[in-house]
Amino acid sequence: MKKRSAKLKKKFKLTQMLTLLLCSTTAMAQTIPLTKLLGQFDEKKDDNFISLDSTVLEVNKKGMYLQKEATQQLIKAYHDFRKSYPNIPFIVVSATRNYMYQNSIWQRKWNALLPKLSDPQKIAKEILQYSSMPGTSRHHWGTDIDITSVSSEYFQYDPKGIILYKWLQENMPKYGFCQAFNEGRKGGYQPEEWHWSYKPIASQYIAEYKAILEHYPNTITQVLDFIGHDKIELEKLVKEYVLTVNNDCY
Ligand SMILES: [Zn+2]
Repeated sequence: MKKRSAKLKKKFKLTQMLTLLLCSTTAMAQTIPLTKLLGQFDEKKDDNFISLDSTVLEVNKKGMYLQKEATQQLIKAYHDFRKSYPNIPFIVVSATRNYMYQNSIWQRKWNALLPKLSDPQKIAKEILQYSSMPGTSRHHWGTDIDITSVSSEYFQYDPKGIILYKWLQENMPKYGFCQAFNEGRKGGYQPEEWHWSYKPIASQYIAEYKAILEHYPNTITQVLDFIGHDKIELEKLVKEYVLTVNNDCY
């Protein structure tokens, strides 16, 4: 009798553990849907997003969207910068880019490099210096923006760029932003002075992305169907480029 109850107890414990595990996995999966992590949605039809055209922010093109909370904080940063530097450009040049959009960039660059580089892995690495594989861009999340210029030279040599970058580094953290692609990382994208990320939301996205890559990488890789995906070391590249970001952004 004693033996049987011990066995029952053990069985009960195991069921409890399994339930817990299942619940935590389900809870994790429900926090941010995979479609949102991979940018496979239409930000224009999403209630959490707002059109930057309806705000005071300066933009270089119409039709860009961002998550509402990130937008509110960016507006505060913009106002503060304007107070100190009324004549230095602070312009949003990129915001949310969904999978379809990123796919068109990837496809164009892939086709342009194909005649020059025959090795698919080399083509991917070349594009990945500055552009993401569709499904792996932080711009999918609605938390990340590019400011004023996407050229490092601008921030390093142009007097206006130097002032802007210094201000961004000193002040953006106050509004919740971190520089995802800073100097000194081992791997991933080249440094990007212009790319800033709204951490309170983006850190949740990367945590979830990381957890999936660690436990069920196929969930992600099998959805990525861009040109060349089957000819490159996809899982390895996804891990390197999504996860190698500034520690301040985790
Ligand atoms: Zn960017």
